[in-house]
Amino acid sequence: AKRNGANRVQCFTSRLQVDLEKHLNIEKGLRHALQNDQFELYLQPKWWLSTRQIYGFEALIRWRLDADHLVSPADFIPVAEKTGLIVPMGEWVLRTAIEYLQTWRRLGLDKQFIALNVSPLQLRAGCFVEYLADLLNKTGISPDLLEVEITEETLLDPYSDDYKAQKDLGRIRELGVGVAIDDFGTGYSSLKYLRQFPVDVVKIDKSFVSAEAEGLAEPEICRAVVTMADSLGMSVVAEGIETDKQLEELIAIGCSKGQGYLVSRPVSFKDATEILRAAADS
Ligand code: C2E
Ligand code: CA
Ligand code: CA
Ligand code: CA
Repeated sequence: AKRNGANRVQCFTSRLQVDLEKHLNIEKGLRHALQNDQFELYLQPKWWLSTRQIYGFEALIRWRLDADHLVSPADFIPVAEKTGLIVPMGEWVLRTAIEYLQTWRRLGLDKQFIALNVSPLQLRAGCFVEYLADLLNKTGISPDLLEVEITEETLLDPYSDDYKAQKDLGRIRELGVGVAIDDFGTGYSSLKYLRQFPVDVVKIDKSFVSAEAEGLAEPEICRAVVTMADSLGMSVVAEGIETDKQLEELIAIGCSKGQGYLVSRPVSFKDATEILRAAADS
């Protein structure tokens, strides 16, 4: 038994070692990537469910290792948050999204907006709101072309004083930038916080929309979110729509907007621009 115990300890230690090394490698890689312009900002179309007409995009970061390898944000955002690298990374995301909007403005494709993911730590640690206000000022980009997606966790803000997140979100909305609650329903105490912090948009998490089944994974939850958002005067976006059946069911429960592989995966800026051009020509 003693030997088993020792083995177990050793096994645990080496796993920690592997995790630590992986973490350090990712951190080193991220610093290098920031300095060498190795991030790419992909865009996933957001569309009206009834017509599939695109009205905007969600910006999703990727890390380009080489021609064939893109690293998913799920694999590096947690490390970026732990190390504080999320702050310069988030500023890069914001600058890049605004550059995209400026390019579309030049091309006359300027009716589109971009939603950005902002993590709780990013909002707390940096001067995100100042940075945002400054960029809007300098570029003259209309604030209603941007939206910020935050998770319920941000509203909870259990780490620092309770009013900080509320204040920042209020200032973001005062600038004229929309606020959306991401992954709605997967967090904690949703309703109470939604009443306290008014937001513009609620996003139904993709785990309620698609799973193995053809139809909605959790139709009752989807319906409840739509009803709640309607009564609070918020708009609803369903994410992760993969099948026609899910689309039909969402329309039937009164959801009007969505995202998902059914219409488009996240694409490069070049491809997004082509999509907009094609839509403008038709
Ligand atoms: P999220 O904000 O919930 O983004 C939705 C994720 O679902 C994206 O994964 C998207 O590619 C994926 N997705 C979209 N449509 C479908 C679909 O029909 N089916 C399925 N199965 N998946 C779909 P992605 O791009 O890997 O991003 C993962 C997460 O990383 C995001 O989740 C977001 O929390 C975070 N993230 C991405 N970009 C940024 C960023 O710039 N800043 C921060 N702070 N977080 C980011
Ligand atoms: Ca999001
Ligand atoms: Ca989401
Ligand atoms: Ca998510």
